[in-house]
Amino acid sequence: SIPLSFFAGIGGSSREGILVKGANILETLSKVKTVVFDKTGTLTEGVFEVNAYHGNHDEDIEHRKSQLLEYAAIVESSSSHPIGKSLQRAYGHEIDRSRMSNVKEISGQGVTAEIDGKTIAAGNEKLMRSLGLTPCHCKTAGTIVHIAIDGEYAGHIVLGDVVKPTSEKAIADLNKSGVTQTVMLTGDSKMVAEQTAKQLGIDKVYSELLPSDKVAQLEKILKKEKGEAKVAFVGDGINDAPVLSRADIGIAMGAMGSDAAIEAADVVLMDDDPLKIGKAIRISRKCLKIVW
Ligand code: ADP
Ligand code: MG
Repeated sequence: SIPLSFFAGIGGSSREGILVKGANILETLSKVKTVVFDKTGTLTEGVFEVNAYHGNHDEDIEHRKSQLLEYAAIVESSSSHPIGKSLQRAYGHEIDRSRMSNVKEISGQGVTAEIDGKTIAAGNEKLMRSLGLTPCHCKTAGTIVHIAIDGEYAGHIVLGDVVKPTSEKAIADLNKSGVTQTVMLTGDSKMVAEQTAKQLGIDKVYSELLPSDKVAQLEKILKKEKGEAKVAFVGDGINDAPVLSRADIGIAMGAMGSDAAIEAADVVLMDDDPLKIGKAIRISRKCLKIVW
């Protein structure tokens, strides 16, 4: 039978907007020593602003800018990724989806489609390379979306994302609460990833990962920690449902989280505040102490 204090723990955490999907999860949560994070939408707002445009040719810059953004916004119009949503917002016009056909979203890379009879691709360096294109090597601090038109590299848009106001405090709070290791796994570029990790005080960072690479990296961490020290993964659910279900404890951020993520997770945070992670661990420890 389930000890009464577990019900108290589940009730107490739900009042804080932390939904724990069962009593056994509280016990595992109390033993978490490593917390692994996704970046975009989890530690950062995932609401990007367009910071710069770079065209490939010596043509009218204003025209090139508006064309890049238009194609990017249309090709992204069916994407639920924070990058896609932000590009649609930056474009700001209604999108006529009938102009578009053959849409393919490549998880962890970007989107391709036919628009007005042209083949458009928008995404990261990996996507461009898979199309046989060499994107510019940008030294810009920001998340880059490269755009190709009809098999030719056309330019890129630089997006700026900001860390959530409580992310830094949340990491410090975990370190104080007996978590011995914090890790970031991201599909974003090395430069953006390392800068964010440094700013937040995260111990280890792995960048330019595909969703499947994230699972493989998490498995390495699990192998190292085997035994009593448990590993939690925190994600916003866009592209990371497999990692959420593979971790000892999967924690999904609620508002942005997809249904698949909420399904795969053990703990769901109703708001997107990373401070709730330390809080959840402390609640679980408290109710375990009452039991034993
Ligand atoms: P993360 O949350 O760690 O950034 P994702 O797997 O969601 O991981 O995305 C990894 C990378 O893939 C992004 O940083 C971006 O470069 C690229 N990407 C994914 N989806 C899109 C998209 N819809 N449009 C453009 N780029 C994308
Ligand atoms: Mg993400």
